[in-house]
Amino acid sequence: DVAARLAELREKLSPRGNVVSEAGRRRTIETFGEPLSPQQVVERICHEVQTEGLAAVLRYSEKLDGKKLTAETIRVPQAELEAAHAAAAPEFLETIRKIRENIWEFQTAILHKDVQVDRPDGIFLRQRYLPLQRAGLCVPGGAAAYPSTVLMTAVPALAAGVKELVVVAPPTPFGSYNADLLATCHELGVTEVYRMGGAQAVAAMAYGVEGIPQVDKIVGPGNLFVALAKKHVYGEVDIDSIAGPSEVVVIADETTRADYTAADLLAQAEHAPGASILITWSPETLEATYAELNRQVALLERCDLTVQSLEAFGCLILAESEEQACQLANEIAPEHLHIATDSAESLLDKIPSAGATFLGNYAPVALGDYAAGPSHVLPTGGTARWASGLSANDFLRSSSVIHYTEAGIRAIAPHVQRMADKEGLTAHRRSVDIRVS
Ligand code: NAD
Repeated sequence: DVAARLAELREKLSPRGNVVSEAGRRRTIETFGEPLSPQQVVERICHEVQTEGLAAVLRYSEKLDGKKLTAETIRVPQAELEAAHAAAAPEFLETIRKIRENIWEFQTAILHKDVQVDRPDGIFLRQRYLPLQRAGLCVPGGAAAYPSTVLMTAVPALAAGVKELVVVAPPTPFGSYNADLLATCHELGVTEVYRMGGAQAVAAMAYGVEGIPQVDKIVGPGNLFVALAKKHVYGEVDIDSIAGPSEVVVIADETTRADYTAADLLAQAEHAPGASILITWSPETLEATYAELNRQVALLERCDLTVQSLEAFGCLILAESEEQACQLANEIAPEHLHIATDSAESLLDKIPSAGATFLGNYAPVALGDYAAGPSHVLPTGGTARWASGLSANDFLRSSSVIHYTEAGIRAIAPHVQRMADKEGLTAHRRSVDIRVS
């Protein structure tokens, strides 16, 4: 029953479905003495950080991440960033530079440019795009280390011209104690790195605490606590989006290589949780991909986790036709869409709702995750219907400019006066009258 399975997947893939593990639930009880919901946890942490400042951040870092820090040790010292960079393997730094180059080239090319509209009578109207002054980048560090996320958030921000970049990562071996992560920050010129994660880091950046000034916008991925905290502080600061677990939809036909497709589905499932959905109208392709999945999964290091993820979030769908496959994919509006068919580009316009689309046999999602140029921070859980992936443009705000002349205001005055009369705003009307009468 495809409809029921899709409804179930959609529920799991929404940010609400960004499930808290059994260990996470236990940690909530240990920390708060009662089984609060993630929403309640986030509200409480944000409120305490807002009212108590840094002391609350330090308290939660100790309770949730088991790390006792102080006002002095919460910021990674410059010497430690430099040492991590100096100790990094030259090939790793070369990789960082190559990826930075790719991201920079793409992100600077797509930057919004100022636009001016000139009208008669010397009137001009302008839209200016200005970089944000200070941006906060969330880099997860609970279950794995993500130097790639530093690249995929910091380089778009730098391309936009943001002056002050703040990286936060939990005080864990996968977070702000991770040498690869610190070396990447240093290579990109990021100097403000704080050892804090979860809701407390989001709240600290949103409200500002002693030694950590408020940012203008918070971006980047994270677990449910990070996602809910971003939602909570929106309005104090801007945010990018609220992301849930990762997902891919692969569209395959009889020409698609089953071994490639299986590898791509497994790569997504490896996120654990990560949803891997194949849609094909070829029964042979479906059979062959299933067989390949079984063969390849056994070879993976994270085999058990990947199998669990496939069982919970995996789906192989046999569509009636190419048309129906596209319709289903569009309904799912996946974070990653891989069109791996013979005529991949011809299907592009049939599936407009996707965070990022990968075309052909040689564009696995891993390229987008690590090196291609568009950011890997993408809308999940069906939100690609209306949300966009992170880009340099997210670090710009626009501001309009209006310039009129005497002749210009005389020409438009009757219309402004009539609208002011309609709305009963006499002072508005007078401000025009005084110039034209
Ligand atoms: P994380 O850094 O997002 O979260 C760890 C923090 O969660 C801890 O520091 C702690 O403060 C908080 N926390 C944990 N349990 C808690 C509890 N019970 N109560 C309150 N706070 C609690 O790291 P993570 O957990 O590894 O999650 C990272 C997520 O980000 C994963 O789902 C991963 O797949 C995703 N991710 C997405 C992308 C992307 O671009 N789409 C990239 C990298 C990672």
